[in-house]
Amino acid sequence: MKKIRLSPSMLKDFKAYQNKMFCGFLFDALYISRTVIIDPTPSMQMGQFFEWIAIGSLPRDISDPAILIIPGLKIAGKKKVDVLIPELIKASQNSEEIPFELINDGLEYFQIKYYNLLIQADHFKKTLQHYKIEILSIQKTIQFDKEDYLRKGVLDIHARIHKMPDETGGYFKPFEAIIDIKSTGNINNRWEDYGWDLLSLPFKEKIMMQPKEYTMIWRLKYNKEIPFFFFVHANTNEYSRKIIKVNIYPGILQEHNEWVKSVPEIIKGEIFLGFTPYPDVEKCYDCPLRNKCVYRADHPKIHTIELI
Ligand code: SF4
Repeated sequence: MKKIRLSPSMLKDFKAYQNKMFCGFLFDALYISRTVIIDPTPSMQMGQFFEWIAIGSLPRDISDPAILIIPGLKIAGKKKVDVLIPELIKASQNSEEIPFELINDGLEYFQIKYYNLLIQADHFKKTLQHYKIEILSIQKTIQFDKEDYLRKGVLDIHARIHKMPDETGGYFKPFEAIIDIKSTGNINNRWEDYGWDLLSLPFKEKIMMQPKEYTMIWRLKYNKEIPFFFFVHANTNEYSRKIIKVNIYPGILQEHNEWVKSVPEIIKGEIFLGFTPYPDVEKCYDCPLRNKCVYRADHPKIHTIELI
């Protein structure tokens, strides 16, 4: 049997599967038999665009930024964008400044969220300078290899932070850190799984899987811990931004690690018995397996509520 590859996304979906919130048929197809790939959603494309414009990183399966950007811009549905984008790419590769003047003329054709992210990327670069954040590498792969499974993560940024203020009015000594950059339409949202309201954030399993797993892999690989930061940028305006340092208590990290170590054995059991489908009219509608799936839900389940 092949090694089971454990990524934060896979672990997040497996936890949801254990909670009956993610369909086992789809989980199997995505992460075990690997017979389907989910096309990036518009918000994922926007995130990829932001990462490219902010730090020059592209998803591993994409080598040409034009390929990355054009599908996102199809949403705007205007032809002129195709002419504009190669110029934008060329200009941004030759200059540290974002060429705003290039897009001003085309703004009516340019999705406003993309425009906000261009400005946000410029803000992000200035924030790097403000805190004297030295980028040591982008898209660094970290992994922890065991006989039957592989824990793996790709860091947006491995950095050394030289000027982070402490609580006494001074500065911490320069330190290494993991930085993950995000763009979002939910920067202050409390209720969504991917909302970035600070009070509810520690309880959001889907977001917290990544800092826990990256911190743990780093510890297993290098025998030390380094802090994890989210740099979050709104795509709904050009100014809302948050820097979030995720302090993880040792007990939480230990609990996470024990759970991850148990996952390969549980998955082997699921492979043997067969993953359980959890049809749901909303999820099945978007599912890449919907055309051939015999479990597909075309009608909502009937829920009962009690008034007492
Ligand atoms: S169509 Fe529905 S039941 Fe079938 S694999 Fe997709 S989510 Fe699961």
